[in-house]
Amino acid sequence: MTSTAVSALIDGARGGDPRQVARLISRIEDGGAQARESLQALAPYAGRAHVIGVTGAPGVGKSTTTSALITALRSHGHRVAVLAVDPSSPFSGGALLGDRIRMQAHSGDDGVFIRSMASRGHLGGLAAATPRVIRVLDACDFDIVIIETVGVGQSEVEIASTADTCLVLLAPGMGDGVQAAKAGILEIGDVFVVNKADRDGADATARELRHMIDLGSWAGWTPPVLKAVAAQGTGIDEVVDAISAHQAWLAESGQARQRRLRRIRDEIIALVIGAARERLDIRRQELEALSVDVLEGRTDPFEAAARLE
Ligand code: GDP
Repeated sequence: MTSTAVSALIDGARGGDPRQVARLISRIEDGGAQARESLQALAPYAGRAHVIGVTGAPGVGKSTTTSALITALRSHGHRVAVLAVDPSSPFSGGALLGDRIRMQAHSGDDGVFIRSMASRGHLGGLAAATPRVIRVLDACDFDIVIIETVGVGQSEVEIASTADTCLVLLAPGMGDGVQAAKAGILEIGDVFVVNKADRDGADATARELRHMIDLGSWAGWTPPVLKAVAAQGTGIDEVVDAISAHQAWLAESGQARQRRLRRIRDEIIALVIGAARERLDIRRQELEALSVDVLEGRTDPFEAAARLE
C-alpha cells in the first residue's frame, strides 16, 4: 500500500466507517512492517478511550453482560468497541466466536464495533497485539473499548487486567470468594459483579466476596461488589455507574497514567520477547545442535544461550 493509500485508510477509519476500521486492524494486528507504518500515523490520536476488561470463568455471563453494557453505554451516547480475545483459538478476524452471536443484536449500529482476536500469527502474541488494536480503536474515536476474554487460562486474566477498569464476573455457586482468591482474581478486580442474581446463593456469594475484599488493604479504591441479572439487563446501570466512578478515581489519583504506562511497558516487553522467539525459530537447527552439545557434556546451557543471543 502506498503511504497515500494508508492515509486514506486511516482517514476513513477515523471517520467511523466500520469496514475501514476492520481493514486498519488487520493491517496492524500481525505486527509486521506495515503495522509500524500505520501505528506511527495513528500515534497523535491515541490516549482518550477508557478500556474496560471483562473477565470471569466460562459460562458466568461475560458475553451477556458485555452485550447489556453496550446497550447501556450506547444510551449514554458512547461509541463502544469490543475485542473478544480468545488465547485458545487459532481463529482471528471479523467472525464472532461461538455463541458471541448474541452480540449481533448490535449489528447495524455504527457506534458499535465488535472484533474477535486469537493468538496465532501475532508478533509478541496477544499480550502485544491487544494494546495495538486498542490503540487503533482509540484513534478511531471509540471512547469505550471493552476487552472480553473468551478462553480459559492465565493469559486472558493478564490481558483483562491491563484494562483501565477490570470487571470481574462471578456467579452463585460457580466462584465463591475462596475460589476467587485462589484464581488470583481478587487482586485484579476493580469492580466485582455477581451475575445470575436471579439464582439462589447470589447474596451469599456477594457477602463472601465483600468479606474477602475487606480483608485486603486497598489504596484509595475499594472494589465494589454488585449484583446483576445480565440476561434481563438488571443491575447493569449500577455497573456502568461503578465503572464511571472508577474512571473518575483513576483520573484524580494519577492511576490512569500509571495503568497506561503499565500497558505500554507490557506491550514493549511482549514485543521484545516475541522478536527473540522469532529469532530462535529461525536458528532452530543451531538450537538443536547446541541442545545435543549440552546433553553430551560438551557445553553448558549458559554458554549455549550466550551463543544464541
Ligand atoms: P460467558 O461464557 O461468560 O460469556 O457466558 P454467557 O454470556 O455466554 O452466558 C452463559 C449462559 O448463562 C447463557 O446461557 C446465558 O443466557 C446465561 N446467563 C447470562 N446471564 C444470566 C443471568 O443473569 N441469569 C441467568 N439465569 N442466566 C444468565
